[in-house]
Amino acid sequence: MEIYDRWTHIHNRIRQACIRVDRNPDDVTVLAVTKNADDAAVAAARDLGILHMGENRIQQARRRRQAFPDIHWHFIGTLQTNKVKYCRDFALIHSLDRWRLAEALNRQAERWKTPIAVLVQVNPGGEEQKHGLATDEARRFVHQVAAECPHLTVRGLMSMAPFVEDPETVRPVFRWVKQLQSQLQADGFEVPVLSMGMTNDYEVAVEEGATLVRIGSALFREEV
Ligand SMILES: *Cc1c(COP(=O)(O)O)cnc(C)c1O
Repeated sequence: MEIYDRWTHIHNRIRQACIRVDRNPDDVTVLAVTKNADDAAVAAARDLGILHMGENRIQQARRRRQAFPDIHWHFIGTLQTNKVKYCRDFALIHSLDRWRLAEALNRQAERWKTPIAVLVQVNPGGEEQKHGLATDEARRFVHQVAAECPHLTVRGLMSMAPFVEDPETVRPVFRWVKQLQSQLQADGFEVPVLSMGMTNDYEVAVEEGATLVRIGSALFREEV
């Protein structure tokens, strides 16, 4: 299959998932995860009209941003506090998951006099090896960032569900993230973005309200 066919396939499945739950497909954006793609594949994806792409390693993310300046680059990986100085010009940082990092990003944004847009990474499954804030912490954390980090803009939530054979298993995870979003909206925050769903589970994520699905292998590798 060519990348065009894989893209069409993904597009159709997202459209069908939207139809099942009465959502507008225009409200779902595909973020192409390019961590395992070469530059030729990135260029091919760009030529299909994919405008949002993400990397999970800061060095490669910076290189890609220079090589493909017309793309909106997102940073989706674990971020060390000593790397925040490289975080300029990303459309969105998906991985704000601890207070020290919020402080570091806020200081950096203040220095640049440019706000940094972030998502708060949550981990409803509570798995220890995974990054992200647990259920009870996440809401308090968003309140604290809003109150004490004036140079950060929290745009929403990001979640990475555990890998499972049957994506139905992780539906409750996505549902919980959606509920947290509703709670935050009731608290008065403008947090429209829900970054959730990957190759294995994006249709379930879309059914549960994802606005940004992060897709790597289904787009760039043939065996999926
Ligand atoms: C690699 C990666 C993805 C994409 O995973 P696929 O299963 O290949 O679609 C999404 N989000 C993050 C944070 C990743 O590191």
